[in-house]
Amino acid sequence: MADARRSAEEVVPRVSSKVARGESPAHGAGAFAIEPIAKGELIAIFTGRITHASETDFDDYHLQVGEEHYLGPSGELDDLVNHSCEPNAGFSPQSANETPILIARRDIAAGEEITMDYNAIIDESGWEGFACGCGASTCTGMVRSFRDLSDMKKQALKPWLLPYLREKYFR
Ligand SMILES: [Zn+2]
Repeated sequence: MADARRSAEEVVPRVSSKVARGESPAHGAGAFAIEPIAKGELIAIFTGRITHASETDFDDYHLQVGEEHYLGPSGELDDLVNHSCEPNAGFSPQSANETPILIARRDIAAGEEITMDYNAIIDESGWEGFACGCGASTCTGMVRSFRDLSDMKKQALKPWLLPYLREKYFR
């Protein structure tokens, strides 16, 4: 089973060839479109080690994939996707917990930074979140746990959620 999955990963490009590492004034390192990307197109399949909360390094890149489990960094471009309150990317409904698939929410021009909404990647009690200065006209000023968002914001993120959160809130 594990071997079958590994060989499948070898034939599926995990990060679009249209994306490369770059620097943004707001975020430092980020992932950028180097060619136009069409709405719905695959940007990256996130991979990494799945860890229990007790062994997760929260200073490192992580997405929540279960009540107490996280997908850690891959060391590749998927680790560099920064937050925006008006993101151009989100997770496909075809995502699985171990392999969240980031796709374009709209057409993305060459040179644009790839962003996603971090409000859709963490759902923990007691997480205070962090202040956001993404600069979007719709910026809420804060990134929070999914559970702490307004119903309107939850609904707006529904099409772009990680599978864990989709199942938990919209089953
Ligand atoms: Zn913002």
